[in-house]
Amino acid sequence: MLNLNERERLEVQSIFVATEKEYRKRLRANKNSVYAINLVGDLHNKIDSVISSVKKKGIKFGCRKGCSYCCDLRVEVLAPEVFYITKKLKGSMSKSEMQAFIEKLMTYADKATGLRFDEHIIPCVMLENGACSIYEYRPMMCRKYNSLDAQVCEDPHAQVPENTEVVVKTGAIGKGFSDSYESRGLSAIPHELGQALLVALTDPKSEQKWAKGNEVFTRIPEMN
Ligand code: SF4
Repeated sequence: MLNLNERERLEVQSIFVATEKEYRKRLRANKNSVYAINLVGDLHNKIDSVISSVKKKGIKFGCRKGCSYCCDLRVEVLAPEVFYITKKLKGSMSKSEMQAFIEKLMTYADKATGLRFDEHIIPCVMLENGACSIYEYRPMMCRKYNSLDAQVCEDPHAQVPENTEVVVKTGAIGKGFSDSYESRGLSAIPHELGQALLVALTDPKSEQKWAKGNEVFTRIPEMN
């Protein structure tokens, strides 16, 4: 449990309220599902801005592009993020590359299905030669996860030292974002990345079903 003083608690609460209000307003003004999916890029920029502002205060993170110690953990993604990543993948892969990737996803999903967070220690399906193949559009969870000491991360069971300001502010932004989607009738609960991508890439109606208010991806076991 993170200890925040009253001023910090109020600041985090106001970030949550402002984020939820902003995205609810934007989703109300534009009801197009493509717009709702593309808003994920804006969410990711907000998360990156929190990290940048903390770095400007002189905080040094162990995280860098190419480091993948934490990429064995279960990656949780919101439904709009799944479709956002899916669109980027479709735009960057040839037909044969996509077919090979779907086969890789099937193998991965078989291993990952039903695993709780503490049971899931499997290299991420997006890792290629030890680096994230979707770094520019990696999910919010990967963007906000931070370590103040990369050496500690070598042990997958270690308690990683994180920057509290990043944890609480990005948590408030993420909650504000998902609550705004839920309030507009669009599911935005967390799902496991590999299994959700497999559905989005193999069910051509999944985006349409989501836009109509359905939950289209398997729930993580903790939510059942
Ligand atoms: S999406 Fe990228 S950053 Fe996130 S766990 Fe997978 S490989 Fe690592």
